Amino acid sequence: MRILLLGPPGAGKGTQAKLLKEKLSIPHISTGQIFRKEMADKTELGLFAKQFIDKGELVPDQIVVDIVRERLGHDDCNEGFILDGFPRTETQAVELDALLTEMNLKLQAVINISIPEEVLVHRLSDRFTCKECDAIYNEKVDKCIKCGGDIYTRADDSPQVVRERLQVYNNRTQPILNYYARQNRLQEVNGNQTVEEVLQEIMKIITKH
Ligand code: AMP
Repeated sequence: MRILLLGPPGAGKGTQAKLLKEKLSIPHISTGQIFRKEMADKTELGLFAKQFIDKGELVPDQIVVDIVRERLGHDDCNEGFILDGFPRTETQAVELDALLTEMNLKLQAVINISIPEEVLVHRLSDRFTCKECDAIYNEKVDKCIKCGGDIYTRADDSPQVVRERLQVYNNRTQPILNYYARQNRLQEVNGNQTVEEVLQEIMKIITKH
């Protein structure tokens, strides 16, 4: 099963992707998480990406596309994958289609998790993330309940950067919903529900395939 999870920052893409990964036994590929790992390891890519991420801007398309191309080539993607946080621009969406065509593959589900902006601002500015597994909590916890890792507040979850990320989402990412809708590939899920309810809606879409 090859799944794309779309939606604004804070919609719950990462949380749902982690649950789907367990249920479906396919990898969860988060470009944001890949960058956070590179930044923590202070690699050249990480240091380059940091300049954009810290300001809430997007990392240039070609860099992200190359990362995804490389990642989709791994054997663990043979049975499918969940893409979270990619594509984020129309160029990335077009490049992804070209890449999948090249690999003789098709996306089976393109799902948009929609949610009102005021809920997002509240969620993002109240968000605690695990350094190890990227799990997200909306209440302060001392250690990650899932893996015991340390908890931190992402630098890009500060109110000022959150506003910039939402603006970037509205200007650059939201238009790709039309790209998929025009081709009748987009399916909507209401993200303003409990984690379990959102998962159920997603599973309903997926099991139709
Ligand atoms: P996320 O964890 O998905 O919220 O991503 C965190 C940050 O990483 C974003 O605000 C961007 O700066 C960068 N990033 C992640 N995915 C992409 C992408 N597909 N294109 C460009 N930048 C990205």
